[in-house]
Amino acid sequence: MTNFTSRQQDYLAAMGIDVWLPRESASAENIEQERQPAIAEIAPTESVAIAEAQPQVEPVSPDTDVSTLNWESLQTCVAECRRCDLHQSRTQTVFGVGNRHADWLIIGEAPGADEDRQGEPFVGRAGQLLNAMLQALDLSRQDVYIANILKCRPPQNRDPKADEVAHCSSYLQRQIQLIQPKVILALGRIAAQNLLQTNTTLGRLRGRLHHIEMTSAPVIVTYHPAYLLRSPLEKRKSWEDLLFAKSTLESMDS
Ligand code: URA
Repeated sequence: MTNFTSRQQDYLAAMGIDVWLPRESASAENIEQERQPAIAEIAPTESVAIAEAQPQVEPVSPDTDVSTLNWESLQTCVAECRRCDLHQSRTQTVFGVGNRHADWLIIGEAPGADEDRQGEPFVGRAGQLLNAMLQALDLSRQDVYIANILKCRPPQNRDPKADEVAHCSSYLQRQIQLIQPKVILALGRIAAQNLLQTNTTLGRLRGRLHHIEMTSAPVIVTYHPAYLLRSPLEKRKSWEDLLFAKSTLESMDS
């Protein structure tokens, strides 16, 4: 049986995953006492303040070839981007956050209202659940890198349009090249289908390793945390996907 720390148990509980415990440690009172601080920790009032430092933004041509840029130039380029209409409605671009040498790269769809306001991916309710998912794996946001298919918020959170994805994709490609992750976790249908260039349903993309051109890191697909908030019964399957990703990574290290 896997031994989870009490903190991991808290986060698994937040994900809706039952953990079997020895009888003496599983009393309702014990669980309730231990859960409360963790639930407070993932409450939306606490934002994880690890946004990348914003460098001085200098004018950049929309035609700039980003494939050789370093982090700072790439970030400047994204901040200045006017390649598609989304620049007109955004508050700011949402570049990505976390460890630039991470083994794990987590890719979502696009910023929502909270992310557009704060300039950091996954800081809203879905982000709180993502934090819980990472914690259940014994990872924090500082251990992984988190980015999106799109760097700007689509109005009313509509699905990204094909031309928006096409204009934005070189930024993510360059991030992947710079990070050189060992595993990529695609969150949700939009991230998975765009990354893998397929129309296959998310259900059929789960549970196996996919390969993309710009990296040797395998891509693993799971549900988007926003979907899991609406469909909590799917959290169990998402947990299986996370364990699959973890074991894939461990098998590379051994
Ligand atoms: N959903 C996403 O896909 N990305 C974010 O950054 C926030 C919500």
